[in-house]
This record gives sequence, structure tokens and C-alpha cells, in this order.
Amino acid sequence: MIRFDNVTKVYPTQSGPALESLTMEVERGEFLFLVGPSGSGKSTFLRLVLKEERPTSGRIRVAGKDLHRLSNWKVPHLRRRIGTVFQDFRLLPNKTVFENVAFALQVIGKPRRQIARDVPAVLDLVGLDGKQDRMPDQLSGGEQQRVAVARAFVNRPLILLADEPTGNLDPATSVGIMKLLDRINRTGTTVVMATHDQSIVDQMRKRVIQLEDGRLVRDQSRGVYGYTR
Ligand code: ADP
Ligand code: ADP
Repeated sequence: MIRFDNVTKVYPTQSGPALESLTMEVERGEFLFLVGPSGSGKSTFLRLVLKEERPTSGRIRVAGKDLHRLSNWKVPHLRRRIGTVFQDFRLLPNKTVFENVAFALQVIGKPRRQIARDVPAVLDLVGLDGKQDRMPDQLSGGEQQRVAVARAFVNRPLILLADEPTGNLDPATSVGIMKLLDRINRTGTTVVMATHDQSIVDQMRKRVIQLEDGRLVRDQSRGVYGYTR
């Protein structure tokens, strides 16, 4: 589903590479944790998958497409197949829960009937039935993250990328979000999650890739967090 072949990324303003000679593969349906200290290259990895950045050298394939050969006008099409969730939720503050999720379908031209059917179904899936008319500031942090997950998943993406999704949540709420991501993964969606959340990684026992200074230093199946930050 995702393949990096000898990928190096050097930002123009930077002396050392953000990622260096990274070769790795994520199979369809896998759940992968990306761990490593701040600045080790986790977000760069996620941005490269989305083609928000391009590699300095090397090749990247995502969902069967060679990103180098994917023309810029096809990038939105690639991104439709990838859901994203962030630490800071990134909801639209002036839209209701329903509208936040519906918006993801409206922008890709889905018909109103489908929106009316799919949005309540996904809100039900994430445990937010009954809250569809709330505004984001009327929700707890955990509920806001559930909206973000619903929005990322409503279009049934092939891949879900999550950048520190539990970073602003207390431990119990984080477990709830992880159960949701696990359930989404079980529907066949490939999940890649960058995290500093040691207890979550240690509880889930999924594949763990550790980066340090842009280099892959560990790739462990049913892995643990494995380092102190
Ligand atoms: P992480 O997500 O693990 O914290 P990042 O991928 O954000 O790591 O950063 C990796 C390295 O690349 C760091 O040295 C960071 O300072 C640098 N970096 C990240 N984004 C940019 C950017 N847009 N321009 C210049 N340097 C960047
Ligand atoms: P240019 O440098 O003139 O923009 P390129 O032929 O280098 O054109 O790139 C064509 C497309 O592929 C562009 O959309 C560019 O962002 C992207 N691209 C360039 N190099 C890579 C690479 N190594 N991996 C993935 N995409 C790339």
C-alpha cells in the first residue's frame, strides 16, 4: 500500500536530511506505529505519502501509484483515498458535527442523498450519535477527535494517516480513540500513526518503526515503544 525505496528528503533550509535512505513497505490492511524523538522525520514521512512534500531522491509508491509519475492534477485524487487525523483535531469551528463530516463528502462532489445516509452512519460508528448538531466547542477533546476520525473515514479511504492523534487527550480518552482506529483498521484500512504515546504503543502491540535523525533504526512486528524520550 505504501512503499519507500531509498528515500531521502532534505529541506532547502536544512543541513542534514529529514529522512535518509529510507526503504520500507506497508502492506494493505497493516497497522503501523511510527515512533522516534521530535525531529526524527515522522511528519516528513506522512507529508511525503500525501505528496505535500517531494523526496530529494528515491521513489515512493502509494496505493499502486508511483508518486513521481503522478501528475499534479491527480494529487487530489490520491488524497481522497487517504484520510488524515491530527493532534489538534482541525475541525471547522463554525460548522456543526454533521456539517464537519458532510463537508468532506461535499468537496468531492458526493450527492446529497449519499451524504444524508453516510454521515449519520459514520457518526454512529464513532459513538457520536445524538451529537450531530453540536458545535465543536460544545464537545470534549475526545469527542472532537471522534469527529475528526469520522471525517477522515467517511469516504472509506484505503489509508488513514494519524499524526499524534492522542497527543491532546487524557489516557482513558486516548484508549477510546485507539479502539476506534483499531476498528477502522479491521475494516481493511491501512493505518499509519506517528506517536509519542508509549502506553498506547505498548498496549496495542502492532508493528513499530522507529526513526532517529531520519534513519530507520528499528522495524518490529507486534512491537513496543522501546525507548525513553
Ligand atoms: P518529527 O515529525 O519526527 O518531529 P519532522 O519530520 O517534523 O520530524 O522533522 C524532521 C526534520 O526536518 C527536523 O530536523 C525538522 O526540523 C526538519 N523539518 C521539518 N519540516 C521542515 C520544513 N518545512 N522546512 C525545513 N525543515 C523542516
Ligand atoms: P519539476 O521539477 O519540473 O517540477 P519533475 O519532473 O521533477 O518536475 O516532477 C514531476 C512531478 O513529480 C512533480 O509533480 C513533482 O512534484 C514530482 N516529483 C519530482 N520528483 C519526485 C520524486 N523523487 N518522488 C515523487 N515525486 C516527485
